[in-house]
Amino acid sequence: MKIKKNHNYLLSDLTKLKGVGNKIASLLKKKRINSIFDLLWKLPKSYTDRSISTKIIDLKIGDIQTVSVIPYKYNFPRIKNLPNRVFCKDITGNLECIFFNSYEGYIKKILPLGKEVTISGKVNFFRNKYQITNPKYISEDSTLIKVKHNQYSLTEGISEKLYNKIIKQIIKDLPRLDEWHNKEILKNFDNISWYDAVNELHKPENIGNHRSSFYRRLAFDEILSNFLVHSEIRKKIKKIKKKVKSFDIKDQNELLSNLEFRLTDDQIKALSEINQDLTSNQKMFRLLQGDVGSGKTIVSLIAAFNVINAGYQVAIMAPTEILARQHFNLAKKLFSKKMNLDLLSSKTKNIDKKKILKDLNNHKIDLIFGTHSIFQKKVLFNNLGLIVIDEQHKFGVNQRKRLSDKGGSECDVLLMSATPIPRTLTMTIYGDMDLSIIKEKPKYRKDVKTYTKLESKIDEIIKFIKKEIKLGNQIFWVCPLIEESKKIDHTSAIKKFELLNNIFPKKVALLHGKTDLEKKEIILNNFLKKEYDILVSTTIIEVGIDFPNANIIIIENANKFGLSQLHQLRGRVGRGTKQSSCILVFKSSLNENAKKRLQILKNTNDGFKISEEDMKLRGYGDILGFKQSGVKTFRLADPVINENLFLLAEKEIIRIKNSKEDINRYKTLIKLYDQADIINDIV
Ligand code: ADP
Ligand code: MG
Repeated sequence: MKIKKNHNYLLSDLTKLKGVGNKIASLLKKKRINSIFDLLWKLPKSYTDRSISTKIIDLKIGDIQTVSVIPYKYNFPRIKNLPNRVFCKDITGNLECIFFNSYEGYIKKILPLGKEVTISGKVNFFRNKYQITNPKYISEDSTLIKVKHNQYSLTEGISEKLYNKIIKQIIKDLPRLDEWHNKEILKNFDNISWYDAVNELHKPENIGNHRSSFYRRLAFDEILSNFLVHSEIRKKIKKIKKKVKSFDIKDQNELLSNLEFRLTDDQIKALSEINQDLTSNQKMFRLLQGDVGSGKTIVSLIAAFNVINAGYQVAIMAPTEILARQHFNLAKKLFSKKMNLDLLSSKTKNIDKKKILKDLNNHKIDLIFGTHSIFQKKVLFNNLGLIVIDEQHKFGVNQRKRLSDKGGSECDVLLMSATPIPRTLTMTIYGDMDLSIIKEKPKYRKDVKTYTKLESKIDEIIKFIKKEIKLGNQIFWVCPLIEESKKIDHTSAIKKFELLNNIFPKKVALLHGKTDLEKKEIILNNFLKKEYDILVSTTIIEVGIDFPNANIIIIENANKFGLSQLHQLRGRVGRGTKQSSCILVFKSSLNENAKKRLQILKNTNDGFKISEEDMKLRGYGDILGFKQSGVKTFRLADPVINENLFLLAEKEIIRIKNSKEDINRYKTLIKLYDQADIINDIV
């Protein structure tokens, strides 16, 4: 039965295609090509022009040529390893086709004697004769050969010929989908339809034409579908009605006036945005984004205080126990007389754990801190009104949505992240949430001074840190992270540890990839307690933890890190009032490009600016490991090259929202481009 050519055709299984059986399909699936639609984005890298045919006499030796000939004699030797030969001619001369590993029967079928065929392949000249060995294309129908053949980066086991065949097939059967964009948007792309754009995309002469309207239109489709999914999730969350949380703002202000510091303007703004959400009848789903050390914790604690004042419980989740404990200690200092609070950790004794669980269920605890363990099934809250999740920027959209569902309809959700991302990626990554941004850092804080040093000058570094240790300061020493070889990774850290431990006996601690979690927490705790002066580590030191005495960070082999990562690392120091420094160590002198990169880091402490530059230099794919977080990687769109398309899509989303346009118009777009499960319960 012929399948109807609508978008379902594109979403159907690869085996629907002629020439694709289970074997080929599974090869493609290994390359994450699961549907016919996925194959559309398998683009040719270049092409071979087989369109012009010549006479034998005019063949150019060494080139790929197409020629029409008549086979007149076979030579099938009975001796192993000798090739089969077919002698062919045209009116100008003779040509031999040589076949290794082809059966007689097959050869007779494709090259029947006395019938004109067109063949194409690389031409050799041997013993005074033209030869084509294992010709790539042979057909009686010259029109099948005399075209430009696309070359693809090949999947193992799939030939160029097969790729050409199946992609041609798809293009031939491509459905003409109803237009989802309106006229205004289409004007940006010379009114080209999706159908025409895909057709253009696969034409050999259009290879690499990234600035053309067809390419940009398809990139825009990709971006808009991504944004639409996010905005639909957001809309769905917003539809959840909750009871308004009412609390006395005077209590909050009193608390603020008793702090050792005054909130920055950005902190005040973020807090009031959060308060507005809390006191509305829509569920909050908000991201508080701010550079390292911008003071997000206090904002979240005050929000928690307000929610508790309104009669609810609050859960604050951190990625590590040590960070959960730090938040807990700070909250104890601020609120101990005003509410009941506790910490649930893996170290909590069983008997205490039981009591905590009971108290949470009875609402004897108002505020609980912990790692993801506080969201286990057995943890039942009496009246949970707010979940705060710290430093979980790597949560993908699915994980976030699940979290938001977890607390139930009365529960507001606040996520916090110290990972500034480029403006164009905000919607891509966090479009499902409302956003509060803290840009400005507390005023007294001094910027981290950033230096570069050659590895051979390690003596100068040692001299420098000796002085700092005398002043009571602590040092992070980060060893290169060599992903290809975990082993080298460890040895380099261990070696460095031994070297430093000789100079500073018993004052150096070591953390590497093999250190288990429990030991890691102990070491970090002891470092916090100043039992060590230096912490050597390979793993990136946990985000978020406050090490008030650490003011020096040394990063070896610094060129292994992206700018954003270096900025994050340097953010581990400089949280106190002391001048802090970051020393980037290099094996050899830097080239101009590397110098330019580092200049950015030296010149600014603005994480947002740095992430923009980082993206321009390294592409968006691996900015701070967002790849693993399930952030969609685009096939055509590129946030650097297509920045204006991202901005256009942002505007379009707002227009769609405000015009209350029927989302069904975009149903096909979303279904095609975002095949994630998440969309199933939306559209
Ligand atoms: P982050 O945004 O990275 O989570 P934190 O909340 O851990 O930052 O704050 C870093 C440090 O800055 C903490 O020691 C905190 O007490 C302090 N801090 C926060 N806000 C201010 C402020 N407005 N003025 C001075 N210090 C502040
Ligand atoms: Mg923090």
